[in-house]
Amino acid sequence: AGSGKFFVGGNWKCNGTKDSITKLVSDLNSAKLESDVDVVVAPPFVYLDLVKASLTDRIEVSAQNSWVGKGGAFTGEISVEQIKDLGCKWVILGHSERRHIIGEDDQFIGKKAAYALSEGLGVIACIGELLEEREAGKTFDVCFQQLKAFADAVPSWDNIVIAYEPVWAIGTGKVATPEQAQEVHVALRDWLKKNVSEEVASKTRIIYGGSVNGGNCVELAKKEDIDGFLVGGASLKGPEFATIVNSVT
Ligand code: PEP
Repeated sequence: AGSGKFFVGGNWKCNGTKDSITKLVSDLNSAKLESDVDVVVAPPFVYLDLVKASLTDRIEVSAQNSWVGKGGAFTGEISVEQIKDLGCKWVILGHSERRHIIGEDDQFIGKKAAYALSEGLGVIACIGELLEEREAGKTFDVCFQQLKAFADAVPSWDNIVIAYEPVWAIGTGKVATPEQAQEVHVALRDWLKKNVSEEVASKTRIIYGGSVNGGNCVELAKKEDIDGFLVGGASLKGPEFATIVNSVT
């Protein structure tokens, strides 16, 4: 971890029921979390209100997606205004499952980020290469292109956390080695330095996601440019998520 405040997000994806989420919230409420870490959880939309109302204020709440502009006649979508109305502070955008399963493209994701930021939400901006892209030596190209789409769209980086999530590591149990993650994080920081500014490069937190768990988080957190984690599967277990939150100390 570098000098910025460590950031750990839990992405619950499309998991849970009222019962299991109530249990998870109760586990999180009683967990001991290091004070010097930003902690955020992203429940499914339908449980945002329940979680926001029952979760300790120590943990902020994020949506997993948002509509690209102001709400209105967009059946099935959820607006940034509604997310804010529930007291949520963040939204995850560009998650690989939305890019590769739902088919969202760079430009659409960039627009979503710009709109969410303009309304005061923080953005967890996800990028990452597919296995075949890594094997073809295109990891940096793909990540830079996805990062550029955010950079081209957003007016400021004050409220953005970048999540580097190699797609081959997401939900596969195949975590990137600390060296593999660090290599990409440094390259991303360098890209920001050259293409945005030195200040943004040094201040923006770059977190890693992809099969992070209670057993591998400490080694990853030691790396200079890994400023936190975005956690999927392991964030559904309160005690394990707390272990990951506390991995930096
Ligand atoms: C994610 O979905 O952002 C993620 C990293 O998932 P997992 O931790 O399950 O690989």
